[in-house]
Amino acid sequence: MSSILHQATSSRQLWISRILMLLLVAAALFIMPHAAEPWPAMDAFLPAIALTVAFSAAITSYLLLVQFNIHKKFFLIPLAGAYAFYGMAALIELRLQPATNASLLTIESIEQPANWIWPCWHIGYPLFIIAAMLFRKYGERAIELNRLSLTKGMMLFMLAPLLGIIMYMVAVSSGHLLSSLVTTHPMPDPVIEMIGWGAWVVAALTFFMVRYCDGDDHVITTFLSVSALAYLCQTSLMMVDNTQFSNGWYMAKILSLLSSSGLLAVLILQISRLNSDLADAHSHLLEKACKDGLTGIFNRGYFDEVSATEWRRAQRVGGAISVIMLDIDYFKDFNDKFGHLKGDQCLCRIAKTLQENLLRPGDFIARFGGEEFIVLLPNSTPEGVRLVAEKMRTAIYQLKIQSVYGRPISISAGYATWKESYENRSMNELLAQADLALYAAKSQGRNRVVGYEELICSRYIGRSKYHQQIPVNV
Ligand code: GH3
Ligand code: MG
Ligand code: MG
Repeated sequence: MSSILHQATSSRQLWISRILMLLLVAAALFIMPHAAEPWPAMDAFLPAIALTVAFSAAITSYLLLVQFNIHKKFFLIPLAGAYAFYGMAALIELRLQPATNASLLTIESIEQPANWIWPCWHIGYPLFIIAAMLFRKYGERAIELNRLSLTKGMMLFMLAPLLGIIMYMVAVSSGHLLSSLVTTHPMPDPVIEMIGWGAWVVAALTFFMVRYCDGDDHVITTFLSVSALAYLCQTSLMMVDNTQFSNGWYMAKILSLLSSSGLLAVLILQISRLNSDLADAHSHLLEKACKDGLTGIFNRGYFDEVSATEWRRAQRVGGAISVIMLDIDYFKDFNDKFGHLKGDQCLCRIAKTLQENLLRPGDFIARFGGEEFIVLLPNSTPEGVRLVAEKMRTAIYQLKIQSVYGRPISISAGYATWKESYENRSMNELLAQADLALYAAKSQGRNRVVGYEELICSRYIGRSKYHQQIPVNV
């Protein structure tokens, strides 16, 4: 899955964003005529909203920095800064409460020093976003991103919270520094109006920049524009009325929450998608690591793992363990006559047929190498193992794949079973016994099944690829 920075907005996402925008505008327009009407006072409302805004803005900021670290896109720094700044402003509002409760746009409120943060907040935050959009459109190529390490990026990013801290210090100390100035020279109405309209114009500009700066729609800008519109609606409502516990005030606070968490929702969605993609990729990789590339059945490496586990289990519970080794007869001649491509197809068909003939859940087949296969059968009697081997041999013969020598392609099989007392013995020894039985099946004319037990009875001792000489306890 590609990042939301590069991922084009799908038509579904576009429609979701349009519906959200429509709902935001409708809600703001619906409330606007009743903005000044009071609503029941809820003292806990502002702290709850301010904390949530601060928290979601901080997480958004962090996730954007993570994106910066991965993609090295510079615009993410001012964007992360915007959210850090917004979160800090919400915390400052919480700290200075109830001083900020009154409206900036009234003469009385200007006498409250904490309201000095209002213009800083409401102009500072959108300016960060505008800067981010300008960098996204024009600045990326101008900055040597390879040389911009995470540390340097973080240092630039820290400017935003630093500004927030300065803002806070000014706000808390303005009671001493500015109150005399403010109270003796209260700001005239037109100046306050101008600050309000200035904030509104910046909010509107931010929305248009986010909406139209990104030539092609990308997921990040699509949902950032929803946040920007929420912010514009919020500022608009504040312009109409910002008296505490009025309809407009409540709605503006809710919109500020939506504005701070719109992008967060998309970032979280991306993380959850990435998680499921990662899980898929992991299981795909695991599957690739244990499957044979040609035939699609398990490979030798995985057989070694499974057989070791089964070996330990059989030792613990004292159950039987058996292996069947299978080898295609005269396959070299087949390849020489029909070519390796036909040989590959034949191998795949045989592998598939062998697998289809294993029905018990614990039974396991793998490609052992070349045109050899290995079957592991826990808890089977020697008669049962012979039955499975015979069934496989017949099934391959019945495929009626034309061979070099007039009769269909066949396989030979050798098996070995241990029922108990495998202490001081190893899986390799069992494999070597099965290999010896396979060797005997080949020597006896191919297209047949031979068990190691029969070899002992017939006192056959052969050569094995695994052990030059296998001890036979007779
Ligand atoms: P035998 O009956 O004694 O087993 O004779 P054979 O010809 O089957 O055995 P040999 O060991 O002489 O040759 C095995 C052949 O299997 C050699 C090689 O061409 C073929 N082979 C091994 N792996 C592959 C593969 O992945 N694809 C194809 N097409 N052929 C393979
Ligand atoms: Mg072979
Ligand atoms: Mg062979």
